[in-house]
Amino acid sequence: MHEFSAACSIVETALQAARQHNAIKVTAVNIEVGEFTFLVPEQLEFNFEIAGKDTILEGAQLNISKVRGVLKCHDCGFEGVSEQDPSLPPQIAVFAPLKCPKCGGSSTEIVGGKEFFITNIEAEIGSSE
Ligand SMILES: [Zn+2]
Repeated sequence: MHEFSAACSIVETALQAARQHNAIKVTAVNIEVGEFTFLVPEQLEFNFEIAGKDTILEGAQLNISKVRGVLKCHDCGFEGVSEQDPSLPPQIAVFAPLKCPKCGGSSTEIVGGKEFFITNIEAEIGSSE
């Protein structure tokens, strides 16, 4: 249910923003999703549809941009995009220490890509009659 709670918080935030701008209908929500959130885009879209039902978000398009995770190495000071072991499923790989791509050390820390956020929403604004 990871994706469902994420979808609910996206819907909530989008609705809030839409209300602030007097939107009558939201047509698209653009989000950035970090690699280390392990959110499955298809699942997220599906849950977004459910969570947005009967709101002005109903039928809105969810556009997901993936953001690469950032790793920091405490051995050599490397900081950059992570390289995961492709043989491991991501849900398991997160619990295995990620190796530093520079020195191969495993005293690494995930410093980016653990969050998801709305970059913008596209909406129709109601005309004040
Ligand atoms: Zn290193």
